[in-house]
Amino acid sequence: MKTNISLLPYHTFGAKVNADFFTTFSNKEELKTILQQKPKDQNFIILGGGSNILFTQDFHGMIIKNEIKGFEVVHEDENNVTVKIGAGENWHDTVMKTVSNGWQGIENLALIPGTVGASPIQNIGAYGVEVKDVLQRVEFYHFEKGETFEYTNQECQFGYRNSIFKNALKGKIAVLSITIQLNKQWNFNTSYGAIEEEIKTQGIETLTPLDLANVIIKIRESKLPDPKKIGNCGSFFKNPVLPKKEALSIIEKFPEAPHYIVNEETIKIPAGWLIQTAGWKGKSLGNVGTYPKQALVLVNNGGATGEEAWALALQIQKDVKTQFGISIEPEVNII
Ligand SMILES: Cc1cc2nc3c(=O)[nH]c(=O)nc-3n(C[C@H](O)[C@H](O)[C@H](O)COP(=O)(O)OP(=O)(O)OC[C@H]3O[C@@H](n4cnc5c(N)ncnc54)[C@H](O)[C@@H]3O)c2cc1C
Repeated sequence: MKTNISLLPYHTFGAKVNADFFTTFSNKEELKTILQQKPKDQNFIILGGGSNILFTQDFHGMIIKNEIKGFEVVHEDENNVTVKIGAGENWHDTVMKTVSNGWQGIENLALIPGTVGASPIQNIGAYGVEVKDVLQRVEFYHFEKGETFEYTNQECQFGYRNSIFKNALKGKIAVLSITIQLNKQWNFNTSYGAIEEEIKTQGIETLTPLDLANVIIKIRESKLPDPKKIGNCGSFFKNPVLPKKEALSIIEKFPEAPHYIVNEETIKIPAGWLIQTAGWKGKSLGNVGTYPKQALVLVNNGGATGEEAWALALQIQKDVKTQFGISIEPEVNII
């Protein structure tokens, strides 16, 4: 256990914040011991890679970092392979391991930072694929009940950047492992963004899972800031999913507004476009700004505090509300 520790190495925004206590666990027994030994009223959070978290102030409590490893094939036949992965494994490394084995399913989720255990929390997604598309089971430890549970995909109540772990079970559990099913008979999703174009540019004729992961990596590198170089926590806001009538009135006013039909009743409008149109693209407030290539990402221009980032986020929220009447909600966990 460490005390009064800087959280700089443990989150991607790069805010200078400290935690009163910091510890790690590599299996469920270690986690149980930590929870039993800590004072009952002491605040704590389970931390993964810190890539979806903004610390707005010092954390007066205990950071418990998940370092559970493991990658086990639990079933394999000629069509599928089922893999159980420890929650503390790095997500991107896991993607690369699966695609290198020729297993298809999560290649579109390459280069998403963070850990495997955090992937079901907000149902990570990119380029038309979400982790829910491959996820079979989530194993987790319930703090109050002191028991381990295994939820099926359906029980996780997945939605767009949402799950039961962000709602009824928020702050009550630690994900220990996930089990995903991947395909040996490939069925790629290349319909999103610039994927097809990049496949052509690279002259790929017979696409493999590894090829597609590399295509995604190339596209992402050209659009998103590398948190190792520029502090950020990815998309700061969720894309609002609006009732059809409300979305259509915006599209009528701004015919250039990009939009995606979610179902018969709802339409999604990219939050990045709303922020950009509200005049915030590439702009800064103090040491924090929006990324010039993608207004949805708030970046640390150097020495920014989490408090400054949150102040900018609130200002952006306010301006989008004033201009479009839409409330955009943070995707990032604000602590
Ligand atoms: C450059 C960049 C690009 C990104 N791109 C995408 C993207 O394309 N799609 C996308 O969906 N996300 C994206 N993200 C967001 C982020 O990478 C994901 O949300 C990721 O899953 C967070 O993992 P983490 O381990 O860093 O979680 P953390 O930031 O450590 O934690 C996030 C939340 O999950 C909780 N948590 C973490 N691990 C556990 C656990 N084992 N058990 C219980 N609770 C836990 C934490 O308490 C916290 O509330 C991006 C972030 C960055 C910085």
